[in-house]
Amino acid sequence: MLIERDISLQQFNTFGVEVKAKWFAAITTEEELQALAQTDVFQSGVPLVLGSGSNILFTQDVERLVILNSIKGIRVVETSLDVVRVAFGAGENWHDCVMHCIKHNWGGIENLALIPGTIGAAPVQNIGAYGVEKKDVFHSLKAWDRMTHAFVTLFSDDCTFGYRSSIFKTTAKDRYIITEVVLNLSASSHALHLDYGAIREVLKKKEIQEPTIRDVAQAVMDIRSSKLPDPKVLGNAGSFFKNPTVDQATFERLKSAHPDIPSYPSAGGVKLAAGWLIEQCGWKGFREGPCGCYDKQALVLVNYGGATGAKLLELAQRIQQSVQHRFGLQLEAEVNLL
Ligand SMILES: Cc1cc2nc3c(=O)[nH]c(=O)nc-3n(C[C@H](O)[C@H](O)[C@H](O)COP(=O)(O)OP(=O)(O)OC[C@H]3O[C@@H](n4cnc5c(N)ncnc54)[C@H](O)[C@@H]3O)c2cc1C
Repeated sequence: MLIERDISLQQFNTFGVEVKAKWFAAITTEEELQALAQTDVFQSGVPLVLGSGSNILFTQDVERLVILNSIKGIRVVETSLDVVRVAFGAGENWHDCVMHCIKHNWGGIENLALIPGTIGAAPVQNIGAYGVEKKDVFHSLKAWDRMTHAFVTLFSDDCTFGYRSSIFKTTAKDRYIITEVVLNLSASSHALHLDYGAIREVLKKKEIQEPTIRDVAQAVMDIRSSKLPDPKVLGNAGSFFKNPTVDQATFERLKSAHPDIPSYPSAGGVKLAAGWLIEQCGWKGFREGPCGCYDKQALVLVNYGGATGAKLLELAQRIQQSVQHRFGLQLEAEVNLL
């Protein structure tokens, strides 16, 4: 097992921020992880597991062991007439897996096409888009438990999935290293989710009346490509903040002051669009040196080249302050700040 020293993480985070990892190891199998777990470097601190670095803002050098998860493999665990249960290695690329499922006519994650990142990180913030969340198809995952020094299997009830949240981001942060994720997908009679965003509009424009899961994925990809910057071209980590959820009384107060405020019903109250709130404060398209707020979607902070994580964080904090000042709402970062 090769543990490298002082490795640049610039190519391992989609913001493209330059920081160094004091120790760095890439794992391609569970056996390699188990061997790594026996080393002093692993045991002397809290390692940081890295997928594609598409939900992280590095604000300083990482004085910890960084473990790059490159465990690959896709295998069918079980099939019935309606359901296929598939296990994915945690280092597989999420979007490639979506396309793999479509190729095999396995339904359930087509609305999550083009989300960057790895399979192993998907449960961490319960990725979601266009009316679907990973938890909707989740069966279980396998992970190395740093507390018990053994592999464990966790099911949905163990993970406490919520909006961009799970135990892996909260109560069990840094405890588990996810090596495999198992999803329950539909093998026939796919339940399509077409009512979110502009999916129906795109399908109508293409004159598709009876869409397949491939059509839905393509519609989602078309919409996403028109709105979100490609990290390969412009450094970013997608939505920087979560959409805030407020209680009914707060919503009524905001609505009377801002009648056109967009809102969506949500389990915990009323969900507001963080992008709209930020845009109202005048940040959309803002640029200061290499740091900016994307001109097509105010929720996305961008690195035009050479930005430090500290400067991007400073911009995020200024945005938070102005939203707090104007609307009395505290925006919470969706991106992991390190
Ligand atoms: C352009 C763009 C669009 C995006 N759109 C969306 C979207 O629509 N919906 C959405 O939900 N997200 C979106 N994201 C955010 C991001 O793609 C997801 O959060 C993705 O799941 C992160 O995967 P990753 O492999 O890059 O994780 P990383 O950024 O590498 O890691 C994220 C967190 O997970 C932990 N982690 C990673 N792998 C493991 C593992 N194997 N075991 C334990 N912990 C682990 C890390 O330690 C870190 O805390 C977007 C990002 C970008 C850049």
